[in-house]
Order: sequence, then C-alpha cells, then structure tokens
Amino acid sequence: MYKVFDVAEIRKDFPILHQTIHGKPLVYFDNAATTQKPQSVIQALSDYYNEINANIHRGIHTLAERATAEYEATREISRQFINASSTEEIIFTRGTTEGINLVAATFGKSLKAGDEVLVTTMEHHSNIVPWQMLCEEKGATLKPIPINDAGEVILEEYEKLLSEKTKIVAIVYVSNSLGTINPVKQMIDMAHQHGATVLIDGAQASAHLEINVQDLDCDFYVFSSHKLYGPTGVGVLYGKKALLEAMPPYQGGGEMIKDVSFTRTTYNELPYKFEAGTPNIADTVAFKKALEYINEIGKPVISEYEHELLTYATESLQEINGLRIVGTAKEKISIVSFIVKGIHHQDIGIILDTQGIAVRTGHHCTQPLMNRFEIPGTSRASFAMYNTKEEIDKLVKGLHKVIKMFA
Ligand SMILES: *Cc1c(COP(=O)(O)O)cnc(C)c1O
Repeated sequence: MYKVFDVAEIRKDFPILHQTIHGKPLVYFDNAATTQKPQSVIQALSDYYNEINANIHRGIHTLAERATAEYEATREISRQFINASSTEEIIFTRGTTEGINLVAATFGKSLKAGDEVLVTTMEHHSNIVPWQMLCEEKGATLKPIPINDAGEVILEEYEKLLSEKTKIVAIVYVSNSLGTINPVKQMIDMAHQHGATVLIDGAQASAHLEINVQDLDCDFYVFSSHKLYGPTGVGVLYGKKALLEAMPPYQGGGEMIKDVSFTRTTYNELPYKFEAGTPNIADTVAFKKALEYINEIGKPVISEYEHELLTYATESLQEINGLRIVGTAKEKISIVSFIVKGIHHQDIGIILDTQGIAVRTGHHCTQPLMNRFEIPGTSRASFAMYNTKEEIDKLVKGLHKVIKMFA
C-alpha cells in the first residue's frame, strides 16, 4: 500500500491526531504509554457490535460461528506477528501485565525456597511486582541485574548472577523509560545454559522491532495490543507448547474445561486451558486490524523512519542548555527521556501541554530504574510512525519556553 513511507498519508488514518489542544495542534509524544488507533481499528469495533456480536466457541448459530472465526483469525495473525510455530502457543490476556501474572501464578508454582528469579534494573513494575509476590510466597529471592550509566545491561554482572539456583529470568526487550534495546537473544541463551526459564516483556518492543520468538528461543513472550495501535484490554502471552501443557490452569471457569463434575474436572486443550470465561471478543477482533495495518506498511520501514525521528530528536534536544538525556544506549528505539536542570519534570509536562504537546513525566512505572539514576523521574517523548520532525521542532521550541519561564 505505502511504497514510499509517507507520513502525511499515515496521519490521515489516525482521526485523533487532527485536533487542537489549548488552541494548538495536538503533538502526541506519549506513544510508549499507549498508541493512537487507525480508522480501520475504530471501524472494526463498531462493525463487530453492528454485525457480528455473539459469544464464541459454544454456539452453532451463524453469528456465534462468525464471532469465533474472527476471534480465532486474530490468534492466527498474532502467531504470524511473532513467528510462533502454533496457535496453541498464543493465549489472549488483558495485556502484558496479566500475561506476566499468569506465568508467575502458574509456572511459578514450581518454585522452591532458595530459588532465584532475575530481572533487570530497568524493568517495568509489571515485570517486578508479580515476581516479588511469588518470591515472598515461596521463600525465593528476586535479584536485579545491574545496568551501566548509559542504561545498558552489564552482561558480565548478569553472568555472575546466573547459577543453578536461577529458575526464572524475566527481562524487558525494550525499556519503556530509556528506549534501550536489550541483547535478549544472548541473554536468553546465557539463561538456558544454566537451565533457567526466560520470559520476555515485549510490551515496548513489539511495535518497533521484528519479533521472532523461535529465533529468540524465549520460553514466554508477552505484549499488549494497545501499544501496537490496537484497542486496550487485549494482550498476547506466547509460551512454548511443552511448558504450557505442563503448567496448571490460571483461572477456573467456563471455556477452560473439557468435563466438569463435582468429583473431577478435566481441562480443555491449549490455548483454551488458559482462557477462562468470556474473553474480550470485540477488542480482540479489532486488534487484527492493527496488526494488518502494521504489516501493510512493514516493520522495517516503520523502524527506519522511527530511527530517523530518534536521531533528529536526540540531536535537537542535546543542543538545549541544561538538558540531559537519560538513557544513551547504543541500541535504542524512538524514546527520549530527559531532565532539565532546576526544573521539575511535572512543570515541564504541564507547560508543554498548554502548547498542545503530550509527553509523559514521572517514573514511568520504573521506580528502581529512577533510583539507579538517582532521579525522581524524567520527561519522556516517545515517537510513533505518525510523528514528524516538525513536531519535534515544536517540542524543542516548547522546552525553550519552559526554560525561559524558570530563568
Ligand atoms: C506498558 C508496559 C508494560 C505494561 O503493559 P500493560 O499493557 O499496562 O499491561 C509492561 N512493560 C513495559 C516495558 C511496558 O512498556
């Protein structure tokens, strides 16, 4: 469809971008928190309720069959999106957070006192707290993998932490606060050499990088639809089939069973064993349109354009007196976190908003990471494929205004 990447054409597909905030054209730079949705996704939601709505899997009437086919079509395109070998390995969740909690609550049952779980210092709270809760319950220990001043994992330190006690390694593919792309393939390999099971938090990576779970050889991979131009309330948990088969169910209820009696219940086959109750059918169906949208343009094309934005933003922001970029890893996606000397991040966010510019400020759900850098938080501009260099110019201008106000 888009032979040459044309951002003006892309922008036409996102109705929300064409509005003013406080009288200024909206500049949406909060894509690491959630992305905006193309018209095709928005349309799919209303089409679903107008034409398809029925409960899935159990019905034999036409609408039930239609809804089931649409729901399962999203499973197939999700499988392709991360190159899993089978749809049995694709479990729908509410999002990344639920995916991690599911693994901690089921696979985690096998942990024993004295076992260790490793996470990086740059994890999102959702890839810390479920493991912390699990470790507390089991008498296991959660250990952070140190990072350097650029915001990169120190592989030598990671190697030192790995031992036969390491049962789970849970690592973020791309940091939502710094933009760092972690060398996950190498880290997975290192963990496997010690017999550990690896979960990859792909919440931030999946919109920007090509994902191939078979090549990575991760045991679990989780991501959220809403950071991928899809609706909120849907996520994917990938797990290797053998692991998923050995794991106990997560929640009990309808759909996840084969036979129920008061003496004994047998569970449904994969992936349904992990999908108790009526799922979020409408949003899951619309999520397919988001994946199709990305596929049509092509990840490599998107990544290349976003990298241009990253380079441009990094160079422009560095010029600003008193501004320091937090997170200067060699490998980054299009996220720039920064602090400005003498000005609180919250003030920066509020003043930029008056100019129509949406950035996120605070700890970005990564408090241990902020502690590592000894800062309370940052301002974060995160770019998506519909952002432009002109918008980055507006951010720079806006920041000059902020600095002038506080001078
Ligand atoms: C957003 C995010 C999460 C949490 O995702 P939810 O959709 O809120 O469940 C976890 N990890 C990273 C890196 C994120 O960016």
